[in-house]
Amino acid sequence: MAMARTVVAAAVRGAAGEGGAVSDQTPFLLAPDAARPQTGGDAAPGKAASDARDVARRWVRAQGVNAQRHLARLRPFQRDWFGEGLARPREAQIQAANALIAKVRARQEARIARLKRVAAAASKTPSTARLSAFARAKDDAVRGTRQTEGVWHFYDSLFAQRKGVFANELAAMDRIALDCYQACYMGLGRARSLPTPPPFAYHEPSSGPATWRRGVEVPKLARAANPFPLVRLPFHRITNPWSLGAVPHEVGHNIHADLGLWKVTPRLIATRLRKMGYGGQAVATWARWHKEIYADLIGVLLIGPAYVESLMDVVGKAPARVANYRAEGVHPVSYLRPYISTALMRRIDFGAEARAFDAGWRSIYGDDVRRRLPAHLRKGFSKASEAVVEELCLRPMAAYGNRRLTDVVSFRPQDQATVREAAERMARGTNPGIAPARFLISAARNALDRRLAPPETIARNFYTTLTGS
Ligand SMILES: [Zn+2]
Repeated sequence: MAMARTVVAAAVRGAAGEGGAVSDQTPFLLAPDAARPQTGGDAAPGKAASDARDVARRWVRAQGVNAQRHLARLRPFQRDWFGEGLARPREAQIQAANALIAKVRARQEARIARLKRVAAAASKTPSTARLSAFARAKDDAVRGTRQTEGVWHFYDSLFAQRKGVFANELAAMDRIALDCYQACYMGLGRARSLPTPPPFAYHEPSSGPATWRRGVEVPKLARAANPFPLVRLPFHRITNPWSLGAVPHEVGHNIHADLGLWKVTPRLIATRLRKMGYGGQAVATWARWHKEIYADLIGVLLIGPAYVESLMDVVGKAPARVANYRAEGVHPVSYLRPYISTALMRRIDFGAEARAFDAGWRSIYGDDVRRRLPAHLRKGFSKASEAVVEELCLRPMAAYGNRRLTDVVSFRPQDQATVREAAERMARGTNPGIAPARFLISAARNALDRRLAPPETIARNFYTTLTGS
């Protein structure tokens, strides 16, 4: 009790302001006033001061022990912690996560080393000034503890999904994402260094799919650069594989960035539309939409017309919302997105299908919705979308080895025949032949559209085909 009173008395005395800062050379735990028991007294002054010093030293030591032990527990990941077979994260992904965590660990080790230095000084002479300096160093270490734990937990929670109930589906998403990447890079007109590691799919309840691109700073990673693409998929998409146009779309964002086109495409769009006489607002809007349009168009090139149907699943909203325009939005107005994709379909020999999609979309919404579009989008929309498709897909670019995007990755009418056959096989079983993994999304859509089997059968066969289990 005496000890507690002594410390409180010291604190009160300090708070009363006895002339400013306490000298570093005046250990407050040894100050005569502080050491003196305030009432009665059941301990000698020397004993009370010594007890108080012990409390301070124990506290100082415990903070260092806490921080050091915490860091030791955040061990490098090992692949066999996270499921079996195909579902496991790839070794390259584990290593990339460990490399990132090692950097964050090194920073935390430096903080702990500093904490120990300040602790040694404070333990030797437990003055208020030195203990305050220690408390500040401790704050810094605690911030580092939270940050390091956050990064470790980020990957732990992603990788742990590979031993959970969605493990199989996520492994299937990885395969499709990899196939999309390979299709694009193998189609380039010149060799480029291949991006690595490949994408990693995870699920998260959310309004829609998304991606953390390779190299972007992720807040949860202490603003470190994300080492491999992360593809987020809500469960409602995973459940319905024919709605997984999201996978080529999100991979498309990564390819756009990996090929260094992030800054090129808005310039191409703006220059072309300006030349065609479009006003500043229209030009700025189309240029701002470049990333999402690119991801939609490469989606069409990767999986064909099924991409547009999957897109319609997503952007088909209530008439009151579907034509909403946000001045800063990066996505094209929902109502317009399918039309931009069908503009590409017409250029790759799917004119009849494009006409049918356009007419179907118009029949769902009628003319009222179109009239609600802002004037700068309504006027000249078709011509603008055709021009944007030409700039993004039909212009030879150095990034593609002087090829056009439609040469790099193409979906041809004969591919649609492959998809139809794969759909029939998928409806009957799990042997759709040698169709590329990405075509299985199209096959699932085709099987659903043609009612070749109950949706449950199509979904089950889709995943079994991709993962063998
Ligand atoms: Zn997108």
